[in-house]
Amino acid sequence: MTASIRNVASSCLDKTGRLSLREDILGVYANDNPQNRSVLAQMNRIQTVPFVKIALVTIQGASPQIQRDLDNANAVWVGNCNVWVYPTDSITVNAPALVALAQDDCNGSGHSVSSEEDQLFDLGRNLGANIVAYYIQSGSGAGCAAHPPGRRGFWADDGASPWTFIHELTHVVGDNPHIDSNDSCNLGNLMTTCGTANINVALPNLTNNQCDRINGDADIESC
Ligand SMILES: [Zn+2]
Repeated sequence: MTASIRNVASSCLDKTGRLSLREDILGVYANDNPQNRSVLAQMNRIQTVPFVKIALVTIQGASPQIQRDLDNANAVWVGNCNVWVYPTDSITVNAPALVALAQDDCNGSGHSVSSEEDQLFDLGRNLGANIVAYYIQSGSGAGCAAHPPGRRGFWADDGASPWTFIHELTHVVGDNPHIDSNDSCNLGNLMTTCGTANINVALPNLTNNQCDRINGDADIESC
C-alpha cells in the first residue's frame, strides 16, 4: 500500500494502523453487490467530496443487503448532492431480544424511548462514527430514523426496499422531513410520503433544498 494512501486514510478518514483497501478505502463490507471499484476514483472522492461517516451494526438474525444499501446511498447522494457516505466499520452483535424490536419512538409516541430502542442505540458507539445504522429482522415499518437524543442513527429491517437505508439516513442528516406532497406522492423523490418501495424512477431525486440540509449538517466533514 503506498504512502499516499496511508496518509489520506489517516488525515481524511482517521484510519491508521493496518488498513484494508476493500474496507477502509473502498468502503466495501459485504458481497451482495459485486462490481468493479476504482481505488483511484475513490481516493479522489475521499480527498475532494464532503462525506458523512456512519457505522453499521447488524443484529444477528437479520438478513441485510449491506452493500446494495451503501452503493444505493452513494448513487443518490453523489448523484444529487455531491456528498457521500463513508462506512467506518461493520459489526454483527448477538442480541436476540433486539432482532424483533419493541418500539415506542417509531410508533409516534412523541419521542419516548422503549427499553429495547435504548439498548439498540447504545450499540456501535465505538466504531468511529457519530451516526450508526442498525439492521434488525423486524420493526414497525421497514425502517425508522427516530433515535434517542445524542445517539444519532436509524434502523432498517428485512422488509426494507432498496431505498429505505438512504431514506432513513436522509431523515437523520439534515433532519429532512417527508417532502410536502400536496395530493401527489412525489414518487420520484427519495423522501416521498408514500413509501420508498413505491419509488418509480431508476435513481430517486433530492431537491436543492434537501441537498442544502444534508450539506449543512454538523456531521458532514471534508478532507
Ligand atoms: Zn420516512
